[in-house]
Amino acid sequence: MGLSPLQSIHMTEKNSIKVVDKIKDMQTLSSNIRKEGRIISFVPTMGALHEGHLSLIRKAKEKGEFLVVSIFVNPTQFGPNEDYKKYTRDLESDLRKIKEIGVDVVFSPDINEIYPDGFETYVEVQELQKPLCGQFRPGHFKGVGTIVLKLFNIVKPDIAIFGEKDYQQLKIIQKMARDLHLEIEVIGLPIIREDDGLALSSRNAYLSKKEREQARALSEALGEIRMRFNQGQNDISDLIHEGREVLNKSLIYDIDYLEIRNGNTLEGKEKAKSGDLVAIAAKIGHTRLIDNIKL
Ligand code: AMP
Repeated sequence: MGLSPLQSIHMTEKNSIKVVDKIKDMQTLSSNIRKEGRIISFVPTMGALHEGHLSLIRKAKEKGEFLVVSIFVNPTQFGPNEDYKKYTRDLESDLRKIKEIGVDVVFSPDINEIYPDGFETYVEVQELQKPLCGQFRPGHFKGVGTIVLKLFNIVKPDIAIFGEKDYQQLKIIQKMARDLHLEIEVIGLPIIREDDGLALSSRNAYLSKKEREQARALSEALGEIRMRFNQGQNDISDLIHEGREVLNKSLIYDIDYLEIRNGNTLEGKEKAKSGDLVAIAAKIGHTRLIDNIKL
């Protein structure tokens, strides 16, 4: 019998889940698992887990032989006036939520572990980061690309799973993987929604009761656009106009964007066609929410 891959790795056990917080330990563990020829599947998250995250984690369990989930609220993807400080952090509660799934290890590093003094290397996907959220959150995708590449180098996954909820992020990570020859299959999974259509998000917890009611208009606006497209309308400015009416009826006026773009390249266009992406970002009170659907 060889040594167990977990031998000599420093980890704690919380809620019967193994938690690793040092990069070196995670790297050694992943190398040991890979040496055994086992497939590592990986779901990166910022915690505050909900059914959307759990759907990715369940799929990752199915697809791999050793499942790693990371929980790290990444400072470099937040703008100066965004919610980095108030973002929900509750490791114990997150671990409880994933207990039944059979996660092999949670990687939950400290900020100084990931960004030690003097850190200065970043990754950017030049074109894909420009439209949509890129216009409104300068530096956001630079932070996302950088943390995901770091996590990939730490966890060494064969398969990584992301949600289509953050559609532009998914496309950026897939492009980064291709451009930098990462030997990682990056899979996107559908958005999980509340019964009234609102996409699950850790940020929904910030909404007041009234705002929560308003928030359903985001998915309704996307649905309206898709319905009109299915009825034969394809002029994008008309379709967007209809979508905005739905938002305005719910008193949502603070709209960063409501756009239809090519679903692969994210390029803008004038006429909609099947497979295009309809994406929205809007503020409800102080809370910025995003959502999207495909035509
Ligand atoms: P976050 O913790 O917000 O960084 O999200 C971690 C992962 O969960 C990302 O790949 C998100 O796209 C995904 N995700 C977040 N919300 C949902 C949702 N409602 N449905 C499916 N995936 C989601």
